[in-house]
Amino acid sequence: MRASDAKRRTSRRTVSARKSMDVGVGGSKRRRSLALPGPAKCMEIRQLLHLSFASECEEQPIGRRLFHSFCNSVAEYSRAFAFLDQLVELELAEDNMQNALLRKIVANFLQPDSENFLSFLSDAMTSAASGASAVDMKELVPRAQQETRQFLMGKPFREYLESPFFQRFLQWKALEQQKITEKHFCEFRVLGKGGFGEVCAIQVKLTGKMHACKKLNKKSLKKKKGQKMALLEKEILESVNSSMVVRLAYAFETKEHLCLVMTLMNGGDLKFHIYNVGKRGLSMERVLFYTAQITCGLHHLHGLSIIYRDMKPENVLLDERGNCRLSDLGLAVVLRNADDKITQRAGTNGYMSPEVIKQEPYSYDADWFALGCTIHEMILGYTPFKNFQEQVSKEELRRRVLQDKVVFTKTAFTDEAKDLCTQLLAKRACDRLGSRNPNDDPRRHGFFRSINFQRLEARLVSPPFVPDPDVVYAKDLCDIDEFSEVKGVELDEEDLKFHKDFATGCVPLTWQEEIIESGLFDDVESMQHRASLPGNSER
Ligand code: ADP
Ligand code: MG
Ligand code: MG
Repeated sequence: MRASDAKRRTSRRTVSARKSMDVGVGGSKRRRSLALPGPAKCMEIRQLLHLSFASECEEQPIGRRLFHSFCNSVAEYSRAFAFLDQLVELELAEDNMQNALLRKIVANFLQPDSENFLSFLSDAMTSAASGASAVDMKELVPRAQQETRQFLMGKPFREYLESPFFQRFLQWKALEQQKITEKHFCEFRVLGKGGFGEVCAIQVKLTGKMHACKKLNKKSLKKKKGQKMALLEKEILESVNSSMVVRLAYAFETKEHLCLVMTLMNGGDLKFHIYNVGKRGLSMERVLFYTAQITCGLHHLHGLSIIYRDMKPENVLLDERGNCRLSDLGLAVVLRNADDKITQRAGTNGYMSPEVIKQEPYSYDADWFALGCTIHEMILGYTPFKNFQEQVSKEELRRRVLQDKVVFTKTAFTDEAKDLCTQLLAKRACDRLGSRNPNDDPRRHGFFRSINFQRLEARLVSPPFVPDPDVVYAKDLCDIDEFSEVKGVELDEEDLKFHKDFATGCVPLTWQEEIIESGLFDDVESMQHRASLPGNSER
């Protein structure tokens, strides 16, 4: 190790845990002043966008905010927007609040005598709303939601596209498409080591937000033939938009590395928590919470025709608040058709399902089996087919997975936990919870009775354990070896093209969220607003 490296390493290590990295997160300390790109650039961007109401006004966070501001300039549009907003709130309300809120919404927006009445609704809808029972209301509201969306998609959307609000949107889009380089970030401590380089904490200079940056050494990728896999991992991460899976925010390149900038998860992985923090295993309260979040994550991936294939505690990371996400999608695959099956053996020994081991056709069912192994390990501190610190040959492990019935100790398992594990660990995929029929949904299992999944996904449920901000939940990072220089590899034209395909810069949805969350969006918009007031304009 060179002296400068050693110095860098120790100095970064003293930046302990999280506290010292929080400088300016979401705050203004590191925030730079910002000038949005001008009209010429916007024209160019507009040509490239395939405009749709869903994408521009609903899915993209900045688009939604600006469409909202536009709607607020016309009373009728403003009421329509407010109604849809209230329905989101209704969906996330606690179960015992739902009915009261529903009645309030119907009275406020669907009754002709209310000042917020949505007058564009069909006559059929309006007459159905008067005197509707609670049951009728539940049916009525989704129909009113449909009609309201249809309304906003028409004239209001067309007017929006011609308004100054949409011009602003194009300016933000232009900024979003800027080239991203290492100059946009400050680097902090090393968080872990991957197969092709280290993962470290980094901060975006513009917003102050902290992320994790997974570095992939270009030469090492080429030497170990990992390029295709890396691009696939990047594309999968980019397509996933769930609070239960790490999200990609930026992909860029430096001279030596390809970099994936992802959600920072600095509370340690579940393997570390099971074995290295307190008594071996986790409390049932934590097992329930993490299992519910993991189940949502798997469900989301499967909905996008993605098999995760590496479900295990080590790949589940905690953030500073104690919420978890699935990470390391390096083994994940996307099925061309949702009900295709594959046979390629992949995964980690001890978590691979019988059909994967036997190289029989499999699909999402493999993930549910691995989840069964993971729950068992969280509860007991060892996997179903291998005791704590037991040395088992591959052949014996294979035999046990294929043949042995899993026995559950009564004391540690509740009846529901035992039933859930038994159903997930079914040897045949057709008997396994999650895979028994196309609508099989593990979230409906009695183990999750106390969980409101909508609130869980919206991060409205408090985690049962919050990581200590002074503790680094990882093995001593000094044990991480330096990456040595990769010899005997030259990068050529084809590699340069691959690097370009990889380094696509900002990921729109995550980037826009970051801009809003940091307060930058509001700052810039209110400055703009002040500048446009009469008497303030430059002449
Ligand atoms: P590889 O696929 O090369 O194994 P991983 O994605 O597993 O790389 O990352 C390597 C290590 O880096 C992980 O074991 C973990 O310690 C750390 N790490 C990865 N992603 C994050 C993240 N989003 N936040 C914090 N640490 C992370
Ligand atoms: Mg890994
Ligand atoms: Mg990996």
